[in-house]
Amino acid sequence: MSLDSIKVYHRCGGCGKKQAFINSGKFRVNANGNRVDVWLIYRCKNCKHSWNLAIYERMRPSKIKKDDYELFMENDYELALKYGNDIDFLKRNNAEFS
Ligand SMILES: [Zn+2]
Repeated sequence: MSLDSIKVYHRCGGCGKKQAFINSGKFRVNANGNRVDVWLIYRCKNCKHSWNLAIYERMRPSKIKKDDYELFMENDYELALKYGNDIDFLKRNNAEFS
């Protein structure tokens, strides 16, 4: 699946150089005690190496909207697209745009 997201570049740990990364449309949710991490996974266009962009880090579960939490768990297409077009979110994760 390829989502219509902003084009981003990032130094790839697989290729060892800057590459285009593609929004995979998949979220990763990691609940650890009373803290939750949520990432949106991008993949290197060249080698498929993954790059996790943090949406929430060490967040109390009560601070995450219950509806959103379920959408993360379901890898909701619309929500992945929303983050893929959220310039502030991409910048926070040190995405490059050219
Ligand atoms: Zn790569």
